[in-house]
Amino acid sequence: CGIVGIIGKAEVAPLLFDGLKRLEYRGYDSAGIATLVDGHIERRRAEGKLGNLGAVLEKQPLEGTIGIGHTRWATHGRPSENNAHPHATDKVAIVHNGIIENFQELREELSALGKKFTTDTDTETVAHLLTHYLEHGHSPEQAMERAMGRLHGAFSLAILFADRPDIIVGARRGSPLAVGYGDGEMFLGSDAMALAPFTNRICYLEEDDWAVLSMDGAVIYNDGRRVNREVKQTALSG
Ligand code: GLU
Repeated sequence: CGIVGIIGKAEVAPLLFDGLKRLEYRGYDSAGIATLVDGHIERRRAEGKLGNLGAVLEKQPLEGTIGIGHTRWATHGRPSENNAHPHATDKVAIVHNGIIENFQELREELSALGKKFTTDTDTETVAHLLTHYLEHGHSPEQAMERAMGRLHGAFSLAILFADRPDIIVGARRGSPLAVGYGDGEMFLGSDAMALAPFTNRICYLEEDDWAVLSMDGAVIYNDGRRVNREVKQTALSG
């Protein structure tokens, strides 16, 4: 139901947690955070209130200066720690708002190719689909381009690639996603509220846009082409 992503210089887990707190007003049933640590995806997830995730993070802190966070409002698969986002393979971690309408078809296809599904969510198909493309030698950008062609439904996504600690990818179709511009750090969020603690320079992605964020900016694509989107100053702060 809410998405936050950060690539920067500082430890991101506490910042992601702050961002998720700003999205609590939307309602949710579980929450989670993933970061990259030495080329590995690390996750912490919990059912229920953000306080539960906070307690997990206190016991097992998450390092890393790049990460994604999520508050979930379950549509496919009951609320549980296992169904909570981020969903991950050894190559990608994904948070998702919305519904992948053709998840059943994708799940069957990917299962036939040997992919092992471990959750009841529609979202997990996106993780395996991207992993499949990466395993076939595609770059994250090429994998993303292909995935946008295969995924039906409404979604906003934030994605970490285990091999690429220098980028976060965001995508939007039928569900809002904003890119926040910092100073040597960049942000993704469901709305300006989530990004208010970090920056007031924001660009709302347009329908079918997907963006590659690095520490010093974002490259935005739509239908195979690079596009420019206006960065606006918002009145919101801290
Ligand atoms: N359809 C996804 C799920 O049930 C995402 C729900 C959401 O937007 O939070 O896990």
